[in-house]
Amino acid sequence: MRWALVGASTIAAEHMIGALRGAGQVVQVVQSTTASRAEDFARAHGIAQAETRLDAVLADAGIGAVYISSTNEKHHAQALAAIAAGKHVLCEKPLAMTVAEAAGMVAAAKGKGVVFATNHHLRCSGSHRTVRALVAEGRIGRVLSLRLFHAVHLPGHLQGWRIDSPDAGGGVIPDITVHDADVARFILSEDPVSVVAEMTASGMGRGVEDSVMSVWTMPSGAMVMAHESFTHAFAGSGLEVHGTEGSIFATGVMTQQPVGEVVLVTAKGREVIPYPTHNLYAQAVADFLAAVAGTGRVAADGRDGIASLAVALAVRQAAATGLRQVVDYGVAA
Ligand code: NDP
Repeated sequence: MRWALVGASTIAAEHMIGALRGAGQVVQVVQSTTASRAEDFARAHGIAQAETRLDAVLADAGIGAVYISSTNEKHHAQALAAIAAGKHVLCEKPLAMTVAEAAGMVAAAKGKGVVFATNHHLRCSGSHRTVRALVAEGRIGRVLSLRLFHAVHLPGHLQGWRIDSPDAGGGVIPDITVHDADVARFILSEDPVSVVAEMTASGMGRGVEDSVMSVWTMPSGAMVMAHESFTHAFAGSGLEVHGTEGSIFATGVMTQQPVGEVVLVTAKGREVIPYPTHNLYAQAVADFLAAVAGTGRVAADGRDGIASLAVALAVRQAAATGLRQVVDYGVAA
């Protein structure tokens, strides 16, 4: 299939072009709002075409799918245009700025009959899939709590709109909490009901939060504790799932790389659990292509993207108001 990149982005350059080409896909064209950026990006990555106009890209009947990795406020309109043109869409998280926008994108894709996926890479990792399987198999009994450690240091080359532009969807909540919401839903197979939260700017954020801590209540009664930040250089990342019969400690797994350790601790002792170490983004592409071929499902679908955004927005609202928020998943949930 021939692909269009919408957005001349870091994530496309560092991960997705390689993942697409590794799956035998042709990256045909990159669209950027700035002609020189599009041309430089195309030259740097061996892409045949560079465009500034999205409609010109979408008018090409040879383009089968679109990967959207522009800044967050652009995803909605770009996805709707791509869907209207009959293209399959792999869209970056957060899907949009509001739940209603995200729901509109998902409904449009359904109406048009195209594949629509959210690029939540963590659920594509062997470590997260293994943790989910351990929980589903009952290896830790009834789940009591999940703790998500995702306070990292935002690299210098990403310290742009993320740290100073609310209009572009900046802030650690739309950037990382949205991923953690997907991780919790994926591992526990249930959707947060309500959240409480505090957020702050701890040295990097200008006009947006760069750190947040929150607690979520799940329908089963399990509690989730989440910590996301742009300012923690040495904290490391990970997750812990604690149950009545055991605990899972997954250290160093909240990352773009297939790394980290998964350990199961029960009354029998401590067991290091092996897991597949495939490329996360290659798995996302493989799952997307299986969905296009009708032989499988996307890793994270549109509803997953709506739900992760809904949780993240509830966290921000809870932190802004100091009040517990019931998560509003909208009509599509
Ligand atoms: P970038 O900041 O690298 O690029 C985003 C857009 O910003 C580009 O499409 C471009 O717009 C514009 N831009 C980039 N660099 C410049 C520049 N030097 N001067 C002017 N404009 C510039 O974004 P990221 O790759 O960090 O993120 C893109 C999207 O991907 C976001 O939605 C983010 O949330 C998501 N993401 C997802 C990840 C995942 O693992 N799933 C990981 C990282 C990001 P234009 O092309 O229109 O000119």
